[in-house]
Amino acid sequence: MAAPEQVTRTGCIACELSSGVRPLPGGRLHESSGLVVEHCVGPLGVGTLVIKPLRHVVHVADLDETESAALGPLLRRTAAAVTEVIRPEQVYVCLWSHMDREPGHIHFVVQPVTKVDMVRFEAAGPELQLAMFRAGESPGEPEVDAVCTRLRPLLADQSQ
Ligand SMILES: [Zn+2]
Repeated sequence: MAAPEQVTRTGCIACELSSGVRPLPGGRLHESSGLVVEHCVGPLGVGTLVIKPLRHVVHVADLDETESAALGPLLRRTAAAVTEVIRPEQVYVCLWSHMDREPGHIHFVVQPVTKVDMVRFEAAGPELQLAMFRAGESPGEPEVDAVCTRLRPLLADQSQ
């Protein structure tokens, strides 16, 4: 197992977004059991969210019992929220988590994918994500704020 992590690591984009060092468009959408939900800052479309531990954790195997027990229900709830707001054909959930080919702060991407996305980029699955990264069009802050206003109540604490 890795050495104990610091709560926030300087130079880690994920830590800097959740600790307020970097601006986070849309703000924090949810926090419970050491996990947070935020809007994705990368070019994966409006409504794409990220679930990550608040701690600087770089391997899924290093999640603690509380974080790992909460992860499944939070993934489901987050996918349900983006489904209700975006009405996608499918919701991708993935974790690549390499930064410059080094293990990075783990963050599960929850991406609602519509037919419009697939037609526009002529791709689906990993190819769609690659095409979106190549296009490099991060959503504008007003669009992110607007979708987060709709998503936030759906992610509000209910049972945890
Ligand atoms: Zn980090």
